Amino acid sequence: MKLEMMEPIVKKFYEGLEQGKFYARKCKECGAVEFPPHLACNACGYHETEWCEVSGHGRLVDFTLPGPQNDKPYLKENGKYAYGAVEIDEGAQYTYVIYGITKKKAPAIRAALMAGEKVGVHAKVIDRPGYKMLTFELD
Ligand SMILES: [Zn+2]
Repeated sequence: MKLEMMEPIVKKFYEGLEQGKFYARKCKECGAVEFPPHLACNACGYHETEWCEVSGHGRLVDFTLPGPQNDKPYLKENGKYAYGAVEIDEGAQYTYVIYGITKKKAPAIRAALMAGEKVGVHAKVIDRPGYKMLTFELD
């Protein structure tokens, strides 16, 4: 995955990560925010979106602990993690790697989600060879 091979929209997203900024696309028609950014709006299908910055804060919607097939050693170098759906404060939902969720803490986090409590997360950018990767971490 080389930067020059990516589409401009993906490139700006990754360049943002290098600078600690989180770039999203906002729909000119309905105002929905696409993050990670897409060219068109997934909410209404409108083709015109514009750049905006999002805070990198949100809430955990759901998660699963990694099993033997999808447990990645390079991810573990940064701590214990799970895979989870995050809804950012600006409204877009996507699946990310979530740090701070351990097997021990998982039942309590699951109970909080079931009870409708907000489980806050924030963006955590990790270094990969040649690029930055966006993950999230429990607040
Ligand atoms: Zn829209």
